[in-house]
Amino acid sequence: MQQWSLQQKAAGRRIAFVPTMGFLHEGHLSLLDEGRKNGDLLVLSIFVNPAQFGVGEDYEDYPRDLAADGALAEQAGVDVIFAPTAAQMYPRGFATWVDVERITDMLCGASRPGHFRGVTTVVAKLFNIVQPDIAFFGNKDFQQLAVIRRMVVDQNMPLKIVGLSIVREADGLALSSRNTYLTVEQRMQALSLSHSLAVARQLVADGARDAAPILKEVRDLIEAHPELRIDYLQICHQFSLQEQTQVDADSVLLLAVFAGKTRLIDNCFLI
Ligand code: AMP
Repeated sequence: MQQWSLQQKAAGRRIAFVPTMGFLHEGHLSLLDEGRKNGDLLVLSIFVNPAQFGVGEDYEDYPRDLAADGALAEQAGVDVIFAPTAAQMYPRGFATWVDVERITDMLCGASRPGHFRGVTTVVAKLFNIVQPDIAFFGNKDFQQLAVIRRMVVDQNMPLKIVGLSIVREADGLALSSRNTYLTVEQRMQALSLSHSLAVARQLVADGARDAAPILKEVRDLIEAHPELRIDYLQICHQFSLQEQTQVDADSVLLLAVFAGKTRLIDNCFLI
């Protein structure tokens, strides 16, 4: 993969890159669409990265369908799919980790110790292998995008990072490969995530600025559903991810909610 990329770049071609864990959906396809428009060549990686899953999380169960992904990737104009094995990415003796500090301490970082170290390590490796000029990530994983931007700046990585909007089902549920885990009942209850975000935005549009009552409203809407359990629910500054008590133009409402055993995340800007 690296050899191919170096040859293409030597020939003056720009490489656009979309890293994923596969089981592609419209969210991934939106990244690929943008990638195709912004490079001469489009590389998709599919790798369910064991290093970013904690003990007892869903690494083994994570949905995989390389054949279906291949067909979708072809339609999306992908030039190369890079789908390494875990043993190729983490061979015997592997010992070098990339660890972004501070903005990995809160939110998903607090709930999933070691998760972001796994993400940044694999993304740094993928950047070294694929040698992209530009890479595309979804705002769905808001903290992940902030962490990757930090890593790229701090490590002087020579590429541009682009973040794209969350793609949702018609009823509002953010698309996720993990939505396949949901029972019909959980799927219905999970609608309260995007619904409560919309309510929060409306409260702010109506003049609310104190974070506490907005968060209480969101909490009540979600906790009205017996299968849902809030992991975190916070209003944070978009760059530092520090919690805010007052809403402003940099405020993002972020939440993670368990629907049964399935952990769902969603977020939105409030202004
Ligand atoms: P994943 O395969 O879940 O690791 O996601 C790969 C990339 O797709 C990440 O940059 C995600 O943020 C992005 N992504 C996942 N779901 C969505 C969505 N619903 N809308 C936009 N981007 C998404």
